[in-house]
Amino acid sequence: MAGLRKALGACALGLRDASRKGVTTISVPLGQRSYDVCIAPAGATDMAEKIAVALGKPTGVAVLVDSRLGQLSPRVQPLIEAVAARLPRVRRLDLAAGESCKTLTAIERTCGWLADNGYDRGAALLAIGGGATSDHAGFAAAIYLRGIAYATCPTTLLAMVDASVGGKTGVDIAAGKNLVGAFHQPRAVLADLGFLDSLPGREVAAGMAEVVKAGLIADAALLDTLEAQAGAALAPAGLAKVIEAAVRVKVEVVAADERESGRRAILNFGHTVGHAIEAASGFQLLHGEAISLGIVAALALGVARGVTEPGLLARAAALLDRLGLPVDVKHRLAPAVLDRIEVDKKRVSDAVRFVLVPRPGQAIIEGIALDELKKQLLSALSS
Ligand code: NAD
Repeated sequence: MAGLRKALGACALGLRDASRKGVTTISVPLGQRSYDVCIAPAGATDMAEKIAVALGKPTGVAVLVDSRLGQLSPRVQPLIEAVAARLPRVRRLDLAAGESCKTLTAIERTCGWLADNGYDRGAALLAIGGGATSDHAGFAAAIYLRGIAYATCPTTLLAMVDASVGGKTGVDIAAGKNLVGAFHQPRAVLADLGFLDSLPGREVAAGMAEVVKAGLIADAALLDTLEAQAGAALAPAGLAKVIEAAVRVKVEVVAADERESGRRAILNFGHTVGHAIEAASGFQLLHGEAISLGIVAALALGVARGVTEPGLLARAAALLDRLGLPVDVKHRLAPAVLDRIEVDKKRVSDAVRFVLVPRPGQAIIEGIALDELKKQLLSALSS
């Protein structure tokens, strides 16, 4: 808990400082599908202006809002009003909070509502919420009338650094999470750090797991920064800076491999085991918490296979712990948990494409037979 309090106190410091600074814009270069990610303390008017520019001249804008956020945050309604002052036919639909909006039933409801409200192919969606909201809205935008435009305002740390960028959209089905979806890039991502004011500390910490992942796979300096800042006091502007660095990692990887035919798979570092633990917990663990455990497992496996430099496991585990994230993967990897890896969609026949990190800032992918993987994980974590 002490680590969490420190990390969160520090995050608040970063936010206060960020609110005095300007907007950082990171371009996602994808040819005709290029767009900007804006990280800003901007406030409603600036955000709405950017949304209006990015969406061009839509015939209407359907704003999909995470309902919990809608109740908690005073920032939602002014943003919608500022958008309505610039774009036509702006109407709001509240979605079930968090992961419960990621169902096909919820998608059918949204598409029905869009049709009932007369939104045509020239209309656009705007998501305001966390990763669940943007996954839902992006997927609805991908399939409604065979595809309309969308933009997203991520309101959780995890959505800002990961879920909102890259164009993966989708929902869950009984067979597994994110098994139905589409690639559909947004027209813009507008991250107003002020939204994080109302985010519970546990959710902030969970988002930091993806930031640590970004450092491990592609930005050794980010890892150094996190270690320097996650202790007694984060330097002012710390959070804004690490968000920007993590977004740059995601953008660089997505731009190189939009549809995950190769390098993009490194973003799955920590996710193969993390998803299994997340599902086995009955989704009691937050996604980022499970990814923290998955990162520790992946590093332990890398050390056991002679791929990962030995000190990195302890280093990363100490950092995750200081950020208030769980690292006790040893106690959570029963064989029954590992069996869940078999339904992971990264599995190709009997081999899993497993992401390993040899040293900070570098990731490789190895095909590992499923049986071998389970055995090695159990043995690596028992020592
Ligand atoms: P989330 O969207 O479920 O939000 C977490 C909780 O925070 C919810 O209860 C929500 O109501 C609440 N909330 C959101 N913003 C808030 C705010 N500012 N203040 C207070 N409460 C707020 O969770 P998440 O961690 O943002 O995203 C997780 C989802 O993202 C998962 O479904 C995961 O599969 C998906 N994801 C997608 C990608 C991608 O590339 N598409 C990448 C990573 C994760």
